[in-house]
Amino acid sequence: MLRAVSGDDARGIVLQGSNIKFLAYADDILLAAPSAEDLTQRLNIISDSAEKAGLRFKPRKCVTLGIRNAPGARGTLPNIFFIQGHEVPFLRNDEAYKYLGVKVGYNPKQDYHCLVDLVCDQIDLIHNSLLAPWQMLQAIRGHMLPRIEFLSRNLALKKDVLRIDKKVQSRVKSILNLPQRADANIVRVAIRKGGAGVQSLSDTVDIDHITYAMKMLSSKDQLVREAAFQSLEEAVRKKAGVDPTDDNIFAYLSSSLPVPRSGGGVTGSVWSNVRAACLRLNKKFPVSWSRCSVTGMIKITIGHISSRSTTTITQSSRAYLFRQLKSAMSDYYLERISAKPDQGKTAAPVSLHPASSAFIADGSFTRFCDWRFIHRARLGVLTLNGTRRFGNQVRKCQRCGYVVESIPHVINHCTSHSATWNLRHNEIQDRIVRAIPSRSGTVNRRVPDHYSSFAPRHCRSAPRRFTLDY
Ligand SMILES: [Zn+2]
Repeated sequence: MLRAVSGDDARGIVLQGSNIKFLAYADDILLAAPSAEDLTQRLNIISDSAEKAGLRFKPRKCVTLGIRNAPGARGTLPNIFFIQGHEVPFLRNDEAYKYLGVKVGYNPKQDYHCLVDLVCDQIDLIHNSLLAPWQMLQAIRGHMLPRIEFLSRNLALKKDVLRIDKKVQSRVKSILNLPQRADANIVRVAIRKGGAGVQSLSDTVDIDHITYAMKMLSSKDQLVREAAFQSLEEAVRKKAGVDPTDDNIFAYLSSSLPVPRSGGGVTGSVWSNVRAACLRLNKKFPVSWSRCSVTGMIKITIGHISSRSTTTITQSSRAYLFRQLKSAMSDYYLERISAKPDQGKTAAPVSLHPASSAFIADGSFTRFCDWRFIHRARLGVLTLNGTRRFGNQVRKCQRCGYVVESIPHVINHCTSHSATWNLRHNEIQDRIVRAIPSRSGTVNRRVPDHYSSFAPRHCRSAPRRFTLDY
């Protein structure tokens, strides 16, 4: 069908010197023509070839949009077209066709408050459900946020995005069993670094804008690449009022090129969204666009706050751009927690190895009581006398009277809990023993022929002797 359309003699729409007759994505086809006659001819051709292949279009799922662009008479055209003998509905000025959830049309009324309300209600339902807490996090992370992410990327839903972020933040804190005074940044830190791994929607949308821009500017399709560059040059010329040289273009995208407040009197575009996203991200960690002087490839340099390192993503490695930006974002939030004198004490050591937080993803080896304890303990917000921040209340240990009832004291030093030290010791030992093949060692035995009275907890002998104690 598409071969028949591309070979017809009706005119297409000229873009960058190319004659565009159709656009196709998966099973969606868009036919384009500069006049009603050309489109009729194109529809007849595609109808005939579909008939020959035994395919039937569903006219009620098709739609036509005719646009008149004459000064003073802009609007839609009420032309009626037919496909395989059936009339295809046409769009009027304020009507829309929903494509992947987004309303497309001449001037469609965008009203997504209902969907945002629905997502907020469903986040509440997940929070109040009987799911395990780690399953609740998976549902929010994997189902709820992606649902609204596509819309947020394509539409200006600033207030709604903030509303969802606020809702997610409070619900995730509750799922982690954290009090409201706990640092909210833990929600956004990656799981492997000890956080809940639920990224804020506004950050995700900013990262999406940058990733999308990189894809367009480095597209393998020459037409897309050139059209993207041309519109970018146009945006720089109009918005910043400067010549669109390479330096100016990348400074504009990196938000380091000053732009007048009026924005050159031009309305926003995809490029101003990219610039605004870079501006917001640059307040968190450094992001800059440039062109490699050797290879001539576009590159984005990302600074990681916590490791004080930078990553450069070129157009050949652009598949990693989204992941790297997400990682830098997570590092930023981790750094914010670490900077807190009271709640950030354990953030850095916990983030050193993913094994420390492997249980957050799927709750493995974790009881509900462990879950309720661990996040509070890590942020130092357990209800202990020593973790009170304000007032002159007594900070003494309620059990042994030690001067400060801190978390390290209760877990490791309070003698009234000494029986649990032994239990913990045996639990760890049992786990190590289970992990080592049987008959390869002895447990709780004195090492044979050992010169001292030292009695290690665990000994592994043949073929070489290893002694393990802790
Ligand atoms: Zn004590």
